[in-house]
Amino acid sequence: MLVVMKAQATPEQIRAVCEYIEHLGFRAHPLPGAQRTAIGITGNKGEVDRGNLEELSGVAEVIRVSKPYKLASRDVKEEDTVVRFAGTDAAIGGRNLAIVAGPCSIESREQAFAIAEQVAAAGAQFFRGGAYKPRTSPYAFQGLGIEALRIMAEIRDRFGMRIVTEAIDSESLELVAEWADVIQIGARNMQNFSLLKKAGRLRKPVLLKRGLSATLEEFLMSAEYVMSEGNYEVILCERGVRTFADHARNTLDLSIIPAVQRLSHLPILVDPSHGTGRRDSVLPMARAAVAAGADGIIVEVHHQPEKALSDGPQSIHPAQFASMLNELEQIAPVVGRTLPRGIHVNAVVG
Ligand code: PEP
Ligand code: MN
Repeated sequence: MLVVMKAQATPEQIRAVCEYIEHLGFRAHPLPGAQRTAIGITGNKGEVDRGNLEELSGVAEVIRVSKPYKLASRDVKEEDTVVRFAGTDAAIGGRNLAIVAGPCSIESREQAFAIAEQVAAAGAQFFRGGAYKPRTSPYAFQGLGIEALRIMAEIRDRFGMRIVTEAIDSESLELVAEWADVIQIGARNMQNFSLLKKAGRLRKPVLLKRGLSATLEEFLMSAEYVMSEGNYEVILCERGVRTFADHARNTLDLSIIPAVQRLSHLPILVDPSHGTGRRDSVLPMARAAVAAGADGIIVEVHHQPEKALSDGPQSIHPAQFASMLNELEQIAPVVGRTLPRGIHVNAVVG
């Protein structure tokens, strides 16, 4: 259910409607829009009686949302969500493309800094690096944990880039939320509902990767889990799905971009690295992703991919990353976008 407030509704009227909803045992999610505020109602206690709600002052109308995902749906919020990063000019969603780059895993301070320096010089606003790695084999490198989080915090201080890193369980979630700027929830955890709910109780943006065989509805329902707990800053990420195709690690499903944009207001990034598993396929798919309307790219970059402890074969060289940005910069205006170069910290954002 969605309560649409009148354009001239006062903050007190909005608060009173939220209190009434909560008093009924439901949860109220005020969602301010350009024209008016809408209040999403969620809860698992059955239907809300719309009659009384319509009587409250400041209410324009009460609408039933038929989709299983509510807060993630465009029915509830028409305008695109833009996730902003306080004190910087960086954003995910909106006109500017977001570029997230860095190694699959943080392997050492030297490795992380060598890569960070080059992706920052090329103009990346976000740095990625795994501290906690969900590996297929328990004998494969599992990540440096807290040490990696500390290294990435140093990278943020030095280069300004905001940090994106994965949390794999409750323990790492708390640490990632404390040290990083964006909490990545990986493909393998897309339906870890207790982890999603926990991330929903935090106030840090969540980058939610599509599960290995998730449908669009399942993907949006996972976003809904995070949002249902009050964290509305969810960034979706297409990273390829399992198919019969064996020429690539996964099949990058770019057709999900327009489908997501039709149904949801949430931004969507594309990961051409995990999406293909092959260095030579990363650039063409990154180009295609921007052309298809993605809000940005998350890509693995390594200065010595042959020595990488994870995902070396799909990691591009820093020089390839720099030329990728040059190409994306040219494609961007065709689809009404701009590719910002570098991040301005403490910039006055107008
Ligand atoms: C990653 O980003 O390194 C990663 C493990 O991604 P995914 O969850 O998409 O496999
Ligand atoms: Mn990886």
